Amino acid sequence: MKDRLLIYVACPACQGSLDLDGAVQRDGPEIMTGQLKCSGCDRKYPIAGGVPRFANLAEVGEEKAATAAGFGWEWKQFTQHDQKYGDQLLGWLNPVRPDFFRDKVVLDGGCGKGRHLMLAAEWGVRDVVGIDLSEAVDTAFAATRGADNVHVVQGDICRLPFRPVFDYAFSVGVLDHLGSPAEGFQSLASKVKPGGHVSAWVYGAENNQWITGLINPVRVHFTSRLHPRTLFHISKLPTAVLFLATKLIYGPLSKVGKGDFARRLFYGDYLSSLSRFGWREHHAIVFDHLVAPTAHYLTREEFETWWSGIRAQEVKIGWHNKNSWRGFGRVSEPIKNSQS
Ligand SMILES: [Zn+2]
Repeated sequence: MKDRLLIYVACPACQGSLDLDGAVQRDGPEIMTGQLKCSGCDRKYPIAGGVPRFANLAEVGEEKAATAAGFGWEWKQFTQHDQKYGDQLLGWLNPVRPDFFRDKVVLDGGCGKGRHLMLAAEWGVRDVVGIDLSEAVDTAFAATRGADNVHVVQGDICRLPFRPVFDYAFSVGVLDHLGSPAEGFQSLASKVKPGGHVSAWVYGAENNQWITGLINPVRVHFTSRLHPRTLFHISKLPTAVLFLATKLIYGPLSKVGKGDFARRLFYGDYLSSLSRFGWREHHAIVFDHLVAPTAHYLTREEFETWWSGIRAQEVKIGWHNKNSWRGFGRVSEPIKNSQS
């Protein structure tokens, strides 16, 4: 961690301020090993491998740990980089554009291996802080340590180790894997200062009945219980079906005329957009749908209550690829996190 991270962190238990305690081992601008101590409750949090550790898989519930372990394993395997990911992130954060990030202090709730941290850095943030519960933070740290405005911490979205100082917080594809997605969202929003903004992207219940009806039972009872490595190989078979469908059917048809015909097919908008990506992204998506023991698919009404719950202003909720919801809104008053 860089010294500047101290401006942003706070004790997740009591919100007290944190300071370096005792000897630290440095490597250039990074504190690789050391300890943070809370001035309020004297709790101590280790810094190891360059990353401050506020929670780990051993301390959280079994299901949360299993979800994080599955994704952590996944994020170490799927480490592709591509310009398309910028467009993909902007699709999830719409109407946010790259300019919006400039000079802002940004929080990525569920940063995985840090792909979106690097994009935020490229788009000119003052600082971006990524948090994740899984060991993917080690990959994120290694991938981002060259950027002086990127910070990575390990911790729980529902007990965030931060002060309410962020200009913008976003979470994509993570909240719906928490035991209580609405609580995670409220926790995330509680770290945004009044006048700042929040974005969230979650799977929709609408149009996903085939997943909730057919795939979910398989995920809950079978695939999420496999070792991730076994699932990694097994999931190649459904990936092959998906890959051939998007490459041979949806991709070519989406280029015919205005693509209206492709959009009318089953899952047309989504699979047409997926056709631009390669095998590894297809595999990552299939794996993602099979690995987690917890996955919520939210209706528009449920998603809307998140935003009314934090009294957000100027909220824009939209359908993304007709299978997921994206929301963006302004935080108008301090938000109390029910967890802390
Ligand atoms: Zn404390």
